[in-house]
Amino acid sequence: MSGFPLPPGSTIGLVGGGQLGRMSALAAARLGYKCHILTREPGSPATQVSAGVTISDYQEPTSLRAFAAAVDVISFEFENVSAEGLDLLASLKPVRPSPAILRTSQDRVVEKSFLNGAGVPTAPWMAVEDLDGLREAAGRIGLPAVLKTTRLGYDGKGQAMLRRSEDLPAAFAALAPKPLILEGFIDFAQEISVVVARGEDGSYSAFDTVENRHSNHILDVTLAPARIPESVDRQAQAIARRVADELALVGLLAVEMFVDSRGRVLVNEIAPRPHNSGHWTIDACPASQFELHIRSIAGLPLPPAVRHSDAVMKNLVGPEETALWPAILGAPGLIPHLYGKAEARSGRKMGHVTRLFPRGSLPGEFGIASALGPTAPRGDGAC
Ligand code: AMP
Repeated sequence: MSGFPLPPGSTIGLVGGGQLGRMSALAAARLGYKCHILTREPGSPATQVSAGVTISDYQEPTSLRAFAAAVDVISFEFENVSAEGLDLLASLKPVRPSPAILRTSQDRVVEKSFLNGAGVPTAPWMAVEDLDGLREAAGRIGLPAVLKTTRLGYDGKGQAMLRRSEDLPAAFAALAPKPLILEGFIDFAQEISVVVARGEDGSYSAFDTVENRHSNHILDVTLAPARIPESVDRQAQAIARRVADELALVGLLAVEMFVDSRGRVLVNEIAPRPHNSGHWTIDACPASQFELHIRSIAGLPLPPAVRHSDAVMKNLVGPEETALWPAILGAPGLIPHLYGKAEARSGRKMGHVTRLFPRGSLPGEFGIASALGPTAPRGDGAC
């Protein structure tokens, strides 16, 4: 069968078996759909709550064909699929968001070229092929700067901070695969993000702008809404809309941004999938980012992305924070989410908790720490 809107009982194919797929599959189930997961890892979080699973490499044509044959529409929770794999899937079933959007987000040079071409500001940047190119880029952009791989980087992996010209050779040698990208260092006042959904008919829903705090390059806490001036919020929302429209998005997209010291908003990166900074929407919104993900790819109407409560979301990362689980279950007001991962390796996102507040009463710093009870951030200042 085919055709949108997808009738209840249809099967949604999700590439990737992690927590984003798990929470999308739970939202899909509420809307009467089944999910089928393509993943390399048997028993991964999304497979535990889904009707079907294909265990395979993301490049293997026979498995990709079998996966496509089992589903009515395909989406992603994981972006590192080869271009050939994507094209094969798209030749067999509708892929939403489109392979073109996925390609744009997979490569930082393509992504930043697209953004700047659409009039969206970013940090100054230059593509870097070799050490001479890096020296030239550092000369033009200035130091400090951040050297990154163009592909396959996440949670701060695949990047190096350059403070002095002596740092260049070692950083260039250490980062792979080449080519690289050099970005000017933004001494940001805040990191914010906006999650949006867009339908095939151009319908559009955007969640409120949120503030994100990182620890060891991994998202630690999201505050919803962001505590930003209205002018900053307007820029962030306008940028998110422009990105979604320019991409002709069908699906869900997160736009991660910096607010610089002058109150200007610059895009860091885009992710055409549910995003960690949108997890608060499960508990604080009538329709979460995961429901909007499923609705947008299934061709269902998009409800407004309204928020009935303010929220603080705290990630549970690695064995230390996973060990807090019994205390979390006993802490009044903390809404627990665990992803079903077998092993709590260091730096691995194992779950999250959300705390709700009546609209307009997000507490100050001290109140946030005390509201998170046993999971209060360590406050080590590492961003
Ligand atoms: P990314 O992998 O690009 O999302 O970067 C991970 C984190 O590194 C961001 O959330 C920022 O905290 C920091 N970062 C990345 N790029 C820059 C930049 N150009 N200037 C300052 N901080 C950055």
